[in-house]
Amino acid sequence: MFLSIKDLKKSFGEDEYKTEVLKGIDFEIEKGEICVLLGPSGSGKSTLLNIIGGIDQPDSGTIMIQGKTISTLKEKDLTNYRRKHLGYVFQMYNLISHLNVEQNIDVGKYLSKNPLDKEELLQTLGLKEHRYKQPNQLSGGQQQRTSIGRAIIKNPDLLLCDEPTGALDYHTSKDILQLIEDVNKKYGNTIIIVTHNDAIKDMADRVIYLHDGRIRENIKNTHKIPAKDLNW
Ligand code: ADP
Ligand code: MG
Repeated sequence: MFLSIKDLKKSFGEDEYKTEVLKGIDFEIEKGEICVLLGPSGSGKSTLLNIIGGIDQPDSGTIMIQGKTISTLKEKDLTNYRRKHLGYVFQMYNLISHLNVEQNIDVGKYLSKNPLDKEELLQTLGLKEHRYKQPNQLSGGQQQRTSIGRAIIKNPDLLLCDEPTGALDYHTSKDILQLIEDVNKKYGNTIIIVTHNDAIKDMADRVIYLHDGRIRENIKNTHKIPAKDLNW
C-alpha cells in the first residue's frame, strides 16, 4: 500500500476551547491513484492534508508512506523527507512574488536529486511564453500552473493539492484539473486533491468523504470521467 493512515487524531485548543478535528482517521491509498478528499468546510480536510504533508503534527496515530513511518520522524528527517518526496499545491498559490515563473519552479527543482526536465514541464504547463513574468503579471490560472510546476518538478511520489481550483473560475478550474490528470498519467505520481466541490470526485480513482472528524465513505471509483468532461 502506498499510503496508510491509522487512527489519526488531532485537536486544537485546550479545555473548554478544545475542538477535536480528527477523531480517528483510517484509510489507505494505492500507488498512482488520484484520490479526491471531500467534506464540508471546517470538516478538517486541510488539517488532514497538512499532517500527511508533515506541515502539522498529529496528536496520535500513524502515517506510513511507501512503508516508511512518517509520523515518528524527527523534525530534520521529516523536512528532508518532505523536500524529497512530497509536492504541495495551495489554493492561494503561495508563489514568491519577486521571482519569475521559471525561478519559482526552480525552487522545487533545487530540492530534488532527480528533477524533471524543465523545458518539457514548462511546455506541459503551458508556461513557456510566460516564463519571465512575475506572479503579479499572471492570471490566477497561470499562477496555479506555476505552483503545480514548483511542486511537480521534483517528481514527488505524493502530490498534495489543497483546494487547487478554489480561487479559479469554471473554465480555468477544469484546465487545472486536466493538468493534474495529465501529470498523473505522464509521471505516475500519487495525488490527493482536497476539495468541497462534489463534481471533482468523478475524475478520481478513489473518493474519500470526511465528516465530523471521521471517514464516512471510502470508495474506489470504477467509472472515472476525464477532467475535461466534468460539469458543475
Ligand atoms: P477544512 O479544510 O475542511 O475547511 P480545516 O482543516 O481548515 O477544515 O479546519 C477544521 C477545523 O479546525 C476548523 O474548525 C478550524 O477552525 C480548526 N482549525 C484549523 N487549524 C487550526 C489552528 N491552527 N488552530 C485552531 N483551530 C484550527
Ligand atoms: Mg481547507
